[in-house]
Amino acid sequence: ETPVPAPDVPARDSFAGVKISNPDRVLFPEGKLTKADLAAYYGTMAEAMLDWMGDRPISLVRCPQGRAKQCFFQKHDAGSFGDAVHHVPIREKDGHEEPYLYVDDARGLMTCVQMGTIEFHGWGARREDVEKPDRMVFDLDPDVGLGFDVVKRAAFQLRDILGEMGLVSYPMLTGGKGVHLVLPLEPSREWPEVKDFAERFARAAAAAHPDRFTANMKKATRTDRIFLDWLRNQRGATAVMPYSARARAGAPVAAPVTWAELEEIETPALYHIGDAATLLARRASPALKDWGTHRQRLPDL
Ligand code: ATP
Ligand code: MN
Ligand code: MN
Repeated sequence: ETPVPAPDVPARDSFAGVKISNPDRVLFPEGKLTKADLAAYYGTMAEAMLDWMGDRPISLVRCPQGRAKQCFFQKHDAGSFGDAVHHVPIREKDGHEEPYLYVDDARGLMTCVQMGTIEFHGWGARREDVEKPDRMVFDLDPDVGLGFDVVKRAAFQLRDILGEMGLVSYPMLTGGKGVHLVLPLEPSREWPEVKDFAERFARAAAAAHPDRFTANMKKATRTDRIFLDWLRNQRGATAVMPYSARARAGAPVAAPVTWAELEEIETPALYHIGDAATLLARRASPALKDWGTHRQRLPDL
């Protein structure tokens, strides 16, 4: 286990007007990182997170007693978060509406943290039009035991295939086992078309490189391969948000990187909640300031 350095921003007990209760509660036992450490991370990263996540329906991974205890994935809420965490009604398959959550400021974000949230996941569409995705994501899920070098090579290969179709993709370290290829989209097509594109792309990649990819989510078909998870691109699916912390050992975070950087990176859990100042400086750098911003539409398939 790699040691976890101390946070590079000071701990506080209040952010954006939200008082953090139990600041000394250890949420990440490995590095003895506390709720105050997590709050310091999110308090510092609020603007960076909201840039991508604000106005997007979100789901939360809440672990009020810490990542090693019970965690739960929360999609909607009847009101216990108070007025800083907003609701967007979204129609479910059976026709009734559920109040999904969104936050559009630091107070909302920090309210979620105060309520025990470690991870933020988001829809691929904004609340103004939840039927028209504004991003596609290919989630590379390697079989257990597959090295990150293999995942990287696969990511570059997919980048090139997408590039030949005129599509720009951006890599993000998930903080877990893999990489996400993120493709911002102009919100013009609806979910069924985007899902169909993603599925056909994944199946074509798997057919062209059967030793490397599978588009089948059954674990049994994954042996020594990477599951090219296209299912993040269906209505209602979420993906971890850029700069979200992960409820995993060592408090890693999901981190946007450049393709050039990815060449040299050896683990998808490179950054963690102690790296807020580093991540902010990186985000403002010329290489990263345009991450995820390219405007594009899917070609006809
Ligand atoms: P890794 O690199 O380790 O795969 P990841 O974020 O891609 O990290 P996955 O397990 O591949 O993790 O993806 C799961 C995705 O499914 C999450 O990003 C999340 O948005 C979504 N999800 C849907 N339901 C759940 C749930 N009940 N618990 C956790 N994630 C869920
Ligand atoms: Mn994944
Ligand atoms: Mn997945």
